[in-house]
Amino acid sequence: MATLGDPKNTIEILNKYHFVFQKKFGQNFLIDTHVLEKIIRAADITKDDMVLEIGPGIGTMTQYLCENAREVVAVEIDKNLIPILTEDTLAAYDNVTVINEDILKLDINRLVEERNGGRPIKVVANLPYYITTPIIMGLFESHVPIENITVMVQKEVADRMQSEPGSKDYGALSLAVQYYAEPYIAANVPQNCFMPRPNVGSAVIRLTLHKEPPVKVTDDRFMFRLVRASFNQRRKTLVNSLSNAPETGVGKEAVLEALEQMQLSPTIRGEALSLQEFAQLSELLLQRK
Ligand code: SAM
Repeated sequence: MATLGDPKNTIEILNKYHFVFQKKFGQNFLIDTHVLEKIIRAADITKDDMVLEIGPGIGTMTQYLCENAREVVAVEIDKNLIPILTEDTLAAYDNVTVINEDILKLDINRLVEERNGGRPIKVVANLPYYITTPIIMGLFESHVPIENITVMVQKEVADRMQSEPGSKDYGALSLAVQYYAEPYIAANVPQNCFMPRPNVGSAVIRLTLHKEPPVKVTDDRFMFRLVRASFNQRRKTLVNSLSNAPETGVGKEAVLEALEQMQLSPTIRGEALSLQEFAQLSELLLQRK
């Protein structure tokens, strides 16, 4: 079968179906076979795996996934792409199911239970950038059994996911991602690898889920309320950001005492704290609530 990674074949399919790109769905299709191969390698797909692909588009990456995995489930929101996938580009494969649904509305836990007996799956996607964070955080927070998530995201978002305290990119997203997974940037991908070209650079990031969280906290939702409040007012000291934020429910004195106990400066900012330190702070403040 002619690979869709070749732009000539992609254009042929698009013309055949008179397909019109929908900007609102973040449609930028991959047209570079090297990038496709890198994604498959980074995801470490084997014939034992069930793979969930989010947003197959015309099926460019799906074809690679079908060749390498045991079973592929591809979830696509745009109904105009469904006949292209089922009648044409994926018609030769019997190990793929295409679901016409919004990924944010799908019960993925149920899907994994039914299709993979609840065993961990792999998630692969060239993500629609307008919903990168809700998709990734949704997968983490609903505790879907997942081994790894290998996704194309905006370069800037990949940097934020991977950054450490003290870096300008470090923030609530870095802490949230690193609480659930170990990030690794597998490739930087220029704009000319897509059709149409996006306005931003892209990167492939693999998130390998932790078997055990790297920190133990009594209430992780409380810890993430503290994290969000700290970075909402990035230029303020941690004491001011936390005690000004009604959602944390903590007073200035309590934060000062906790910082003293942790031997941290009373004028420290949230951006200097590691995940371990946010966890410790969360435990100390919870005791004082
Ligand atoms: N995988 C294809 C590729 O690499 O060429 C297409 C990637 S394109 C960046 C993102 C795809 O996600 C589009 O096909 C788009 O229609 C689809 N999409 C957008 N929002 C979605 C949602 N909420 N649920 C499922 N698919 C979605």
